[in-house]
Amino acid sequence: MKFYKRTETKKINIGSVIIGGGSSVAVQSMTNTNSRDWKATVRQIKQLEETGCEIVRISLPDMESACNLGRIKKSIKIPLVADVHFDYKIALEAIKQGADKLRINPGNIGSKDKISILAKEARKAHIPIRIGVNAGSLKKVHNFSDNFLRAKALSSAAMEHVKILEKHNFQDIVVSLKASNIDTTIKAYKFFASKRNYPLHLGITEAGSIFSGTVKSAAGLGIMLYDGIGDTIRVSLTANPVEEVKTAYSLLQSMELRSSGIEIVSCPTCSRCEVDLIKIVSEVEKKTSAIKNLKRLSKPVKVALMGCIVNGPGEAKDADFGIAGEKNTGILFKNGKLIGKVNADKWVEKIISMIKGYCR
Ligand code: SF4
Repeated sequence: MKFYKRTETKKINIGSVIIGGGSSVAVQSMTNTNSRDWKATVRQIKQLEETGCEIVRISLPDMESACNLGRIKKSIKIPLVADVHFDYKIALEAIKQGADKLRINPGNIGSKDKISILAKEARKAHIPIRIGVNAGSLKKVHNFSDNFLRAKALSSAAMEHVKILEKHNFQDIVVSLKASNIDTTIKAYKFFASKRNYPLHLGITEAGSIFSGTVKSAAGLGIMLYDGIGDTIRVSLTANPVEEVKTAYSLLQSMELRSSGIEIVSCPTCSRCEVDLIKIVSEVEKKTSAIKNLKRLSKPVKVALMGCIVNGPGEAKDADFGIAGEKNTGILFKNGKLIGKVNADKWVEKIISMIKGYCR
């Protein structure tokens, strides 16, 4: 059961994906290849697609990379977002090349006239624009020592550019207000959400490595999602972007906002543990990430892997499949019923074959 009420936002189409208006929170990521190398970029996007990424963003540092966009788009299946800084002409080229959405940063795209030109061209092409405000590129935000005032400055900067788009009767707008500080970020999103109903792209920027970035993003995004804020998320990690997608799904699934794939319930182990559970869980996770049909399930397959019979049978009965450890073996449950025993060295094989059977 969900424990929050989603804030109502406007529905926006990003290619074939709808965000806002009560749609599922969409998972997105960003390539970190050299986007001038279109083949390497396509390879990485295909990996992201396989992991379940629904929208992909690519940064376009120059005209050469913008001119590659059409080739990249033709080779991939998911909507492609062009991320443009400094030069609005690159954004115009990205529109020409078929981008499904533009992300511009008002802190560095330049004059209001340039934003106006982009609004006109994006409207003609029927593509949305994300106003992506980032604390790092807005000098004004750093004039304040207080998170509250910084958040207000972030929200005002976004609003200023939203108003320019609205003046041009452009309402296909998505907004993000990112800072590396969680408190500032949450406050900024809340300020903005109280003023406009455009869908919000959530992220904690420059969150860090896989470990620290995951924790920081889960804390920040989790609080906002719990409050019903957020229509699409990017978990920003200094890592292979595939990790961002995995983390995003895991976060959304733990909050019951997305329900596909696999949910593994496993105990932390203790001196009662009868099998090498840490190794077993890590192998099951690795092998399930290669099962393609998992993401297409309408609800997650729940698998319990438990170290002993203290809590094991209860959790295993509550899952679609589960095993509770006994000395070098385990009692196997399916849909709440005990169906046999499995030797410890066969747990991974057995569980994977049961998951594959479930996906057929
Ligand atoms: S289920 Fe058993 S092994 Fe796992 S933490 Fe609980 S008591 Fe320890």
